[in-house]
Amino acid sequence: MDLPAYTPDDAAVPDGVVVVERSCTGQDLGPMLNRTAADVVRFLMEQGEMVTATQSLSDDMIELFAAELGVEIRMVDPGEEQEVELLKLLDVVDDLEDDEAPIRPPIVTVMGHVDHGKTLLLDRIRNANVVDDEAGGITQHIGAYQAERNGRSLTFIDTPGHEAFTAMRARGAESTDIVVLVVAADDGVMPQTIEALSHARAADVPIIVALNKIDRDNADPQKVLSQLAEHGLVPESWGGDTIVVEVSALQNLGVDDLLDNLNVVAEIEDLRADPDGRSQGVVLESFLDVGRGPVATVLVQRGTLKVGDPLVAGAAWGRVRALVNADGKQIKSAGPSMPVQVLGLSDVADAGEGFVVAPNEKIAGRVADKRGHWRRQANIGRDAHALSGGARLEDIFTQIQKGETATLNLIVKADVNGSLEAVTESLRKLEREDVKLAFVHRAVGRITENDIQLAATSNATIIGFNVRPERKARELADVENVEIRSYEIIYKLIEDIESAMLGMLAPEFEEVVTGDAEVREIFSVPRIGRIAGCHVTNGTITRGSKVRFLRDGTIIWKGEISSLRRFKEDVREVQSGFECGIGLSDYQDLKEGDVIETFEDREIPRT
Ligand code: GDP
Repeated sequence: MDLPAYTPDDAAVPDGVVVVERSCTGQDLGPMLNRTAADVVRFLMEQGEMVTATQSLSDDMIELFAAELGVEIRMVDPGEEQEVELLKLLDVVDDLEDDEAPIRPPIVTVMGHVDHGKTLLLDRIRNANVVDDEAGGITQHIGAYQAERNGRSLTFIDTPGHEAFTAMRARGAESTDIVVLVVAADDGVMPQTIEALSHARAADVPIIVALNKIDRDNADPQKVLSQLAEHGLVPESWGGDTIVVEVSALQNLGVDDLLDNLNVVAEIEDLRADPDGRSQGVVLESFLDVGRGPVATVLVQRGTLKVGDPLVAGAAWGRVRALVNADGKQIKSAGPSMPVQVLGLSDVADAGEGFVVAPNEKIAGRVADKRGHWRRQANIGRDAHALSGGARLEDIFTQIQKGETATLNLIVKADVNGSLEAVTESLRKLEREDVKLAFVHRAVGRITENDIQLAATSNATIIGFNVRPERKARELADVENVEIRSYEIIYKLIEDIESAMLGMLAPEFEEVVTGDAEVREIFSVPRIGRIAGCHVTNGTITRGSKVRFLRDGTIIWKGEISSLRRFKEDVREVQSGFECGIGLSDYQDLKEGDVIETFEDREIPRT
């Protein structure tokens, strides 16, 4: 580019806070700040950022230019400002809580470790306590159902586990009032128990523990209670405030007791909602049914949803053609806390999306169309954005500078308990008056999609010590813009976090994974030694590249790829989808199922 150097000029800048849309171009940004597109391009070029006037800018670039001019800006997503207008048009109520309104049933989510009995428990509750068991209905899994106990209804989300729960929260939907944490009395607190606990805590939702499988000979309730106490859930019987109910889903024992306790908590929470007026709520799940078209299960949070209502859910809309309850029966209306399937929408809405009944069909259609437009815009922007990477750790210094007490949210995953403790302890020592660390979740094991989702919802940075993210987790992290930092040396980790706190985090290199291969078998070749027969699952494996061997996401060896073969031929590289043989120079203990990951250090431009 042959542009004259950028010379700061004194032309006036706009007064007050300027609202800037994320991923805008130099052409958009310049005029908003009384400058030209060329000013933006020239300035950024001097900062080492090569962009054209019509290219999307990253947040950093926008902020840098605004700071240069001394303009205060507020960054919004494309459509965010317009969304405010749309919500006005729809006349949406922000605060769903209403002290004057009648009591509504609590919405309960069941979480816990795999095989601890969530599904069976949900089935038992449903079968023993269905609201209406009139003949004719066929039990349907629509994502939630209502049960009744002593004349009071309770709503259960019937996708067990915390994935759905977190996915909802990721969209800003707070759809759970109480969490039931299922812990098997013979197995105790396990990794997913802790994970579920972290999720529930992050959402600030009351927790009741269902101590399941109490019928088992090897059930050891006292041991489990002490494990729970170690994790901050001190049982009532020990003087704490965590309700623990002993149940056996198998023998159908204690289920009523659990429901009674849920009702007690619900009463304390004093959950209320107005059954009158235009309905609002949240989409639990949605799919395309060949015969019926888009079907959405929604949870009514306010008002009463009726057949014929003009409904908008995200970018989908339509007149409600039919409402079907969890017993498979068509109903005319659904009040607060009631889950119901809605037929008649134009499109499949996303889970976690809010829905609202519009004043009329015309407004419903208009709002949905506008949202569809802005979302497509935002998606284009987000793709451009993901390239510029996340910066949660980097944000911390900006926060400190503003004089705010900054909190750095962290999720720590490590290979073994010892290192997890060591990492946590060392990090804790870094805390200062103005910078607090919050451990959103700490656990042993690889970095999973769940961790990414939790990080995305709680605005956390993930620290991996001797562990690596699964491929899917890595992909999700890119989409969600979650920062993952992996370390193998503690002091390096501490150094980095410390520099981030001092605003000096400027890593010059970043590790980029270039390929993954899965080990299928190990064989010996005369004169060459042991070879791992692999299938390349992602990217490209190149001879000479840096490599690490992973077992269950934990790093077991690091080195270089010395030999790479395909059909007995030496090759330079092997692409994803192909088989290859990788020579194991120093490391002999590789096993079937291990993963070979190649990576390179790429320079990141300084900002
Ligand atoms: P989930 O993975 O948490 O949903 O667990 P499931 O509900 O699928 O239960 C896992 C296994 O534990 C199944 O074989 C159940 O029959 C069994 N199970 C569940 N609850 C109990 C219980 O209270 N006692 C006994 N002995 N087994 C149970």
